[in-house]
Amino acid sequence: MPTGRVLLIYTGGTIGMGRNPDTDALEPLDFNHLIQQMPEFGGIPVGVDAYQFPEPIDSSDMNPQLWARIVEIIVGHYDRYDGFVILHGTDTMAFTASALSFMLENLTKPVILTGSQLPINQLRTDGKENLITSIEIAAAHHADGTPRVPEVCIYFSGKLLRGNRATKINSEGFNAFDSFNLPPLADVGVNIIYHDDLILRPDYERPMTPHFAMNTDVVVFTLFPGIQEETVRYLLTSPDLRGVVMRTYGSGNAPQLPWLMEVLAAATARGIVIINITQCAAGPVQMARYSGGFLLKNAGVISGYDSTVECAIAKLMHLLAHSNDAEFIRQQMCRPLCGEITLNA
Ligand code: ASP
Repeated sequence: MPTGRVLLIYTGGTIGMGRNPDTDALEPLDFNHLIQQMPEFGGIPVGVDAYQFPEPIDSSDMNPQLWARIVEIIVGHYDRYDGFVILHGTDTMAFTASALSFMLENLTKPVILTGSQLPINQLRTDGKENLITSIEIAAAHHADGTPRVPEVCIYFSGKLLRGNRATKINSEGFNAFDSFNLPPLADVGVNIIYHDDLILRPDYERPMTPHFAMNTDVVVFTLFPGIQEETVRYLLTSPDLRGVVMRTYGSGNAPQLPWLMEVLAAATARGIVIINITQCAAGPVQMARYSGGFLLKNAGVISGYDSTVECAIAKLMHLLAHSNDAEFIRQQMCRPLCGEITLNA
């Protein structure tokens, strides 16, 4: 049954930042400062408790140890709250949301990440609406007491997005996030319109299983016309490398260069997992469509389907931390674990 309480986890980000008088640059302030800027807090119809990171950060400094810390905080408070709102900088919010979606297996409560483009102490801030709506979504439940959105999501500027489908698209506008390959889970205007057909249903008979480990022996690299053999060879033979997200053209194409296919096949044979993600914002990888993609398939490269880069790298880090079996990891990359990909041909 709902507790009527939401836990706010403040990690940092623009929402709580103020100007450093010496440099004029924005930097994180402490949580009490944020609360003081929001008398509206008193009017929220659910109980809100707060947990502050000891040192609030700009999200450029986010890392897998801090993801594990967030998981620990959620686990430690799981039974006492209906849901969790994580205040986080926008720059790496999509990475954190993707990572948490794999680290919180069979999540049965909402975990909503939000932040803002303007600090909350500025008159035109977008932070207040983002925060208040996120709290409302985190507390929302069906008549039978189950939560409306038991998923890791990003709420920003009127749209509730599945976290592992979201990407930061704008460094200036208030509409900072989009999810090109999956419609919003809810649209927020005068009312909050939930799209229940898109929202995942966990197994309420099973507990949520937290995972803390991530393996960072991975890299993202982008193909471009003129890419050099020496650079790719150097990268793919670096000693500890175990996983690669390769950003290809269009529907998963690459130049038909014999040396490239040879280097990729050799890396695959050494147990490196290579995932093909398109450089396009929307649409899936379809490796059998053009011969450039087909050659990649023959070299052992695995389709990332319609995954975002943020999600593909987070999923790879999660899987590599839990298995040494490259073939098993390749199979898992081709299965949706928590709504992160849509399978296609
Ligand atoms: N640099 C900031 C951060 O990611 C930007 C933001 O919060 O929007 O922490």
